[in-house]
Amino acid sequence: MQRTIDAHIHLSERKDDALLTYAKNNGLRYSLSELMGLMRKNSVQRGLLLSPPLEDGRPLPNQQIIELCERSEGMLSPVVTVEPTKKEVAAALRTADENSEVKAFKIRLGYVRAAADSRVFDPVYDYAQAKGLPVLYHTGDTAFSTGDLRLSHPLSLDSVANRREELKIVLCHFGSPWFEDVAELIYKHPNAYADISGLTTGGGAYAKEFVGLLARKLSEAIYFAGGAEKILFGTDYPVTTYSDAFALVRLLQVDDSDKEMILWRNAKEVFRL
Ligand SMILES: [Zn+2]
Repeated sequence: MQRTIDAHIHLSERKDDALLTYAKNNGLRYSLSELMGLMRKNSVQRGLLLSPPLEDGRPLPNQQIIELCERSEGMLSPVVTVEPTKKEVAAALRTADENSEVKAFKIRLGYVRAAADSRVFDPVYDYAQAKGLPVLYHTGDTAFSTGDLRLSHPLSLDSVANRREELKIVLCHFGSPWFEDVAELIYKHPNAYADISGLTTGGGAYAKEFVGLLARKLSEAIYFAGGAEKILFGTDYPVTTYSDAFALVRLLQVDDSDKEMILWRNAKEVFRL
């Protein structure tokens, strides 16, 4: 089987995890042992672990992400979530400083009341840039109807990328449904990347047609950007299952060498795994 790196995984062991509904819909137990079993079964050597949202809207505390990674026998690497207050920015940088395994930061655009270019994030960008750590952004559709799409729109990353050409930027979920905007961003900016995680969940009417539509949009984005070296595989477990995430990659109308880049080569380089 094709070797793979999953650049976008969530997990907690809490009853108030807001992603439990997705897990249930996908028939997943949503536990560390299940996740590690699925990764082994699907030849997924490494994964990046991100805080899921809790029912009160807050992300799982970073310390719990670090602890889950420590129990993963080297399969999971932590991503530190940064919320937009001075205090939380300082705490996130401290966590990254104390844990050399941290591979990236995450900013939850659309869920927090701050834009990507808000000055509150400047210390994170300075630090990430100095250490070569990418910053992941939630972009596009939000899991809850109260999300702010103006703040999660992928084009809001253009000003950050303009100001910080050394900062590695990853747009999560390919900015869905603004695939073309993301294609332009990854084409325009040498340091902008996008993951294809969490694009399908459950079934529903026209599920098969929808996957076909996604595959076409992503293939077009690859043609537009002139290659697949900026695109990263991810599931957004438990939002999308491994079988659905791999089915999407299989449908892409690109060369096998591009699929290999998407599945692991790009992530290995971007996250220095
Ligand atoms: Zn996610």
